[in-house]
Amino acid sequence: LYDVTCSPVSGQGKTPSILISFEDVSPILEAGQMRSDFVANVSHELRSPLTSLLGFIETLRGPAKDDAQANVRFLELMERETKRMTRLVGDLLSLSRVESEERVRPNEKIDVLSILELSQQILQPVALENDVVIEINRPDSREQMIKGDSDQLQQVFTNLIENAMKYGGDGGKVVVDVTYSGHEPSLRGPAVHISVTDQGDGIAQIHIPRLTERFYRIDSHRSREMGGTGLGLAIVKHIVNRHRGRLKISSVKGQGSTFTVILPAA
Ligand code: ADP
Repeated sequence: LYDVTCSPVSGQGKTPSILISFEDVSPILEAGQMRSDFVANVSHELRSPLTSLLGFIETLRGPAKDDAQANVRFLELMERETKRMTRLVGDLLSLSRVESEERVRPNEKIDVLSILELSQQILQPVALENDVVIEINRPDSREQMIKGDSDQLQQVFTNLIENAMKYGGDGGKVVVDVTYSGHEPSLRGPAVHISVTDQGDGIAQIHIPRLTERFYRIDSHRSREMGGTGLGLAIVKHIVNRHRGRLKISSVKGQGSTFTVILPAA
């Protein structure tokens, strides 16, 4: 879309002419559209748990007032919805923080393995509950140092491992591989590759390019059931970009998926 302006140009003694200028305003309109889509999505995401909560409160006050079993069940459901809203607000804050920070603190030298081990510890209780094993394979060399913001990178790996557990199915295995490459063409230099592989159903190719869009989910119902917010991968992508890295997603339907983060080596 173009914004067209016409202005007369007075030629000195020459034939009068008109200057017509075209300004491409599509990016401005697209940004406006994206903003309003985002607000509409957030409102929808918050309104549905709020509507459920209101429904539960009304039922607890009315028909289920004297039913002890129903009381317990409704309170559990209310707790689940409240936790989901809390997670959504947390993810929205994280996203707005990583989007607004122009640059990360790249001076912090970080050992990738220590971040991965911390993510493993954080997720261990959920892994035990769902009978999932998280395995971390260390690189042969000790070259696993990167530069960046450890809190943000912690969030990246926790999100990816959590997704691998969520969508990999109970009783499965999540494998994290760390490898070093002396020259990574996409970064034009040495890099550390961290890949998270699950044994889930995999992802159809058509969805892969859109997974990092905010609120994009393959199966909204399944994501919500598992407490997902639809923002995890959008946050991951922003943080990885801020670190001048790359995120690669590969998957074979029926055989699981691999999410690889490639970061410049320190
Ligand atoms: P959510 O909170 O829904 O998990 P994410 O942004 O983390 O949001 O992921 C977006 C969508 O990508 C998910 O809803 C799911 O459909 C898909 N997805 C993410 N990780 C995996 C995975 N390891 N296996 C299969 N699908 C996945």
